[in-house]
Amino acid sequence: MVDVVVIGAGAAGIGAGLALQAAGRSFMIIEATDRIGGRAFTDKSSMPLPWDQGCHWLHCADVNPLVAWADRLGARYRKQVRQDHYQYWLKGRWLEGEELAVYGRAVDAAFDAVYEASRLRQDVAVADVLPDPGPYGGAVRHILQLMASQDPELESASGYGDYEDTETNWPVISGYGDLIERMAAGLPIRTGVAAQAVREVPGSVVVETSDGTLRARAAIVTVSTGVLNAGKIRFDSPEVQPVLDVAQTMPCGSYEKVCVALRRPLPGMESTLFFSVEPEDGDPVNVQVLDWTDQMVICHLGGSVARDAGAEGAEGLRAFAMERLRLAFGSNIDAEVTAMATTSWERNPFVMGAYSAVMPGHAQARRDLIGLHTGRIGFASEAFALTWQATAHGAYQSGQDVAARMIREELA
Ligand SMILES: Cc1cc2nc3c(=O)[nH]c(=O)nc-3n(C[C@H](O)[C@H](O)[C@H](O)COP(=O)(O)OP(=O)(O)OC[C@H]3O[C@@H](n4cnc5c(N)ncnc54)[C@H](O)[C@@H]3O)c2cc1C
Repeated sequence: MVDVVVIGAGAAGIGAGLALQAAGRSFMIIEATDRIGGRAFTDKSSMPLPWDQGCHWLHCADVNPLVAWADRLGARYRKQVRQDHYQYWLKGRWLEGEELAVYGRAVDAAFDAVYEASRLRQDVAVADVLPDPGPYGGAVRHILQLMASQDPELESASGYGDYEDTETNWPVISGYGDLIERMAAGLPIRTGVAAQAVREVPGSVVVETSDGTLRARAAIVTVSTGVLNAGKIRFDSPEVQPVLDVAQTMPCGSYEKVCVALRRPLPGMESTLFFSVEPEDGDPVNVQVLDWTDQMVICHLGGSVARDAGAEGAEGLRAFAMERLRLAFGSNIDAEVTAMATTSWERNPFVMGAYSAVMPGHAQARRDLIGLHTGRIGFASEAFALTWQATAHGAYQSGQDVAARMIREELA
């Protein structure tokens, strides 16, 4: 019998495993899929260069504990990004000069309003506190959808504002997923083993899996709220019910990417990091130019934009992205495309969405989750992070914190 069974080998599970290893505890991580990293996944096979299907930016890089890991493991990240070079194709033309500045101010004003509402603990929908965005409402809305993976009507302003944004964000060129996977090197991980039921019995925990029953002194569950809310794991312990109840108020939103490789860089994008394309009638797409290659771009779709386009699977996502690229760059763009790949986080049965977003009226949800004591069955994930919510480093830290608590309180 090991001290701890950790369920899930994403950033949180690996964070927990590393803490247990450092404390000299015995443990086993079980992972349902055949891959380590969960929502940290660097796809090295479908495109000419590796690209991150999930996390890609070391958010809050000036305080992010994974930067030290990146340095230790030789991961390549970029400190200087083309942050000031944003473009916006709106209904037939590229915005210029002052128009772009007005757009930039509209984005800033939206986030200022959300943080002000949060400061005042206004537990209402983000949509309810937004100032009039003027002519650029479509793109402002889509940025909010990407940040929360949720529509502004479905996200608590107060809950969102708990995120402490240091506005220092560095892309991991060698792949954030690759970094997380390499952090796990040497940890005892069994892939292809799914937890099906977890229950506490006197003095220990029993985990029923797709490959037999495991017994440990404690368990740490790190699956997404999407998986928890779908009831994919049965918990036969009454102490766990409050976690499941709170998780219902912070479901995973949607966020999908379409990666496009091109024969040559997109014209006019030489100094651009992001651009948006918004058709006359329809939602915009945000596009990141991978500035270390210029020949790969990643189209980002968030909230209901991602959910609706993704409802038709990869074809729907590709069509959505290409339709917009054609508008901005002409129909001969198709001949420039050498490869394309899409994510499918929503359809992934072991993730079921993008990341957690707190519903209006439930701003305390993350605090409640973090504070709940559930005996020998602990929980960690991006949903259990407050100021670093919904991020890879938040998930990692949550895993570290819960492992430390387990060692202190249950394994003493
Ligand atoms: C499109 C997208 C872009 C993002 N961009 C960024 C970014 O730039 N920067 C950033 O910091 N964050 C970003 N994030 C968020 C970040 O990826 C996640 O917050 C973080 O990776 C979550 O880690 P986790 O360990 O909490 O969960 P997960 O990564 O979901 O790990 C849980 C693991 O549990 C496994 N599992 C599920 N069910 C079972 C079961 N029954 N038994 C065993 N194992 C099971 C899963 O397969 C998974 O591996 C992004 C996410 C998405 C989707």
